[in-house]
Amino acid sequence: MKGYIARIFTSFVDMPGKISIAIYFSGCSIRCKDCHNKHLWDKKSGTLMSDYQIMEKIKNNPLIEYVAFLGGEPTDQIDFLLHLCNQIKKEVKKPIAMYTGREFEVLPKDLLDHLDFIVCGPYRKDLLIKDGWPASSNQRVFRKKGKQWNC
Ligand code: SF4
Repeated sequence: MKGYIARIFTSFVDMPGKISIAIYFSGCSIRCKDCHNKHLWDKKSGTLMSDYQIMEKIKNNPLIEYVAFLGGEPTDQIDFLLHLCNQIKKEVKKPIAMYTGREFEVLPKDLLDHLDFIVCGPYRKDLLIKDGWPASSNQRVFRKKGKQWNC
């Protein structure tokens, strides 16, 4: 299976206090007015990559504690995202984080079952948290404990 990916790199900032492999999806249909990643709105701004290529990058990175999906909007390629989540849980058993411009309540249950950490909601410059995290105060952070999500 293949999906459009903008870039993949080891990140020390996307998961607080953890090292992650950051997988940036290209393409975003949400189109927030103040988006910093407008160059990723077009899916084809990224490269078509296979699940195998991405899994190799994850497996060959000995540093990572988390796999993090960002964008762009990962849920715009929901079938590919779900497929990757399945592979990760089966083959490397790492926790998975996702940054999405969508709200928690609209995320599909089968995706929530795979994720461990989610930052939800569109970026809003008028609600910017200066030098803070997440980027704007409307964004909500969800962590899974057992089967329970806490905000
Ligand atoms: S959801 Fe993210 S990538 Fe999409 S427009 Fe909003 S800030 Fe940009």
